[in-house]
Amino acid sequence: MSKRRLSYCGAWTPAPFGRTNKSMSDIAPLPPIDPERHALFLDFDGTLVAFAPTPDAITLRPGTVDRLKAISDRLGGALGIITGRRIANVDSFLTPLQLPASGLHGLETRLAGAGIEASPPSPQIATARERLGAEIRPGDRLRLEDKGGALVLHFREHPEEADRAKILARKAADGLADLSVVDGHAIAEIRMRGVDKAKALRRLLASPPFAGRLPVYVGDDTTDEDGFRAAAESGGFGVKVGDGETAAAFRLGDVFAVHQWLATIA
Ligand SMILES: [Mg+2]
Repeated sequence: MSKRRLSYCGAWTPAPFGRTNKSMSDIAPLPPIDPERHALFLDFDGTLVAFAPTPDAITLRPGTVDRLKAISDRLGGALGIITGRRIANVDSFLTPLQLPASGLHGLETRLAGAGIEASPPSPQIATARERLGAEIRPGDRLRLEDKGGALVLHFREHPEEADRAKILARKAADGLADLSVVDGHAIAEIRMRGVDKAKALRRLLASPPFAGRLPVYVGDDTTDEDGFRAAAESGGFGVKVGDGETAAAFRLGDVFAVHQWLATIA
């Protein structure tokens, strides 16, 4: 295992999925955020909000919206959200705040002061949707979330269905060259190939007020690894939330630790 500088802050939670914790001697504190030089990009689920049994059941920690507003102001507006959710869905939780954002892993983009642009999903999504629809019945222990440009099988409430979810997602995407399957935290997700958080980050970073700043990307899941790499390639760094192997240079223990850290920036 390679040596990495890692920082654990705040409450420590047991390692998910039985992965091994890094030793505390292998850590370094997160570097300070320079409001003049850095841009901050945050994933949503598992980073800014703790997971709930269903995506709609999440609750924001008190003061989150005010804190994000303060950070955005402090960074000259260079705070963005990069998420697998639809942007409008994130807005509904952060109202009245509407941050620059990338949704559906990059299929949707909202630059600062602009509306939401959405790339049309491949027609192959419809094929995958039909295939899943034939397998997932009302009352199924797997829950199918249709995000339009992506299809998600959730098994958080029924972890015993994890293998079935992963197999069904792969069967549904089988032979469809435009689609790929990604396993995340208690989900198997079918999404467009070539749409990822690296491209999402670069897209936002190319526009004001992000342009010319060093990106810091904070996320917790498999799909965030693309964001960590893109941040490092652009001179910034990644911050992994929680346990597990990562390309990120730094780490925060959990959502609570993320909020403690955000408070120091605000
Ligand atoms: Mg996440």
